[in-house]
Amino acid sequence: MDCVFCKIASGEIPSRKAYEDSKVLAFYDLDPQAPVHILLIPKEHISSCKEVTEENSYLVAHIFQVAAKLAAELGLENGFRIVANTGEDGGQTVPHLHFHLLGGRSMKWPPG
Ligand code: 5GP
Ligand code: ZN
Repeated sequence: MDCVFCKIASGEIPSRKAYEDSKVLAFYDLDPQAPVHILLIPKEHISSCKEVTEENSYLVAHIFQVAAKLAAELGLENGFRIVANTGEDGGQTVPHLHFHLLGGRSMKWPPG
């Protein structure tokens, strides 16, 4: 499949890894929007939040556990933000489920 994050998950496209196990990969975003900007993805291709199901939602739960661990390791004790842009209105540009872990600065609300 011609999916950039599947290629990153398989190692075909290199990335700066923050965490990896058999199910999940976390890697630094190419275009960071905060001092810490990591993307967390399931290695299995899931297109977006719209395709999360009873069968695959354990991957989302696992990603949130990894995000909490990374945030603690990276010293984000003052807080952080996890974002999953979904579909066109959500501003999703890569059609492989991913969670942005953003931290190291104060975040604004609402987002643009
Ligand atoms: P989205 O806009 O879909 O929520 O987020 C996609 C993110 O992937 C963007 O923040 C973009 O900078 C990042 N990105 C796109 N291609 C690559 C890549 O090849 N490597 C890395 N590390 N990040 C990428
Ligand atoms: Zn994919």
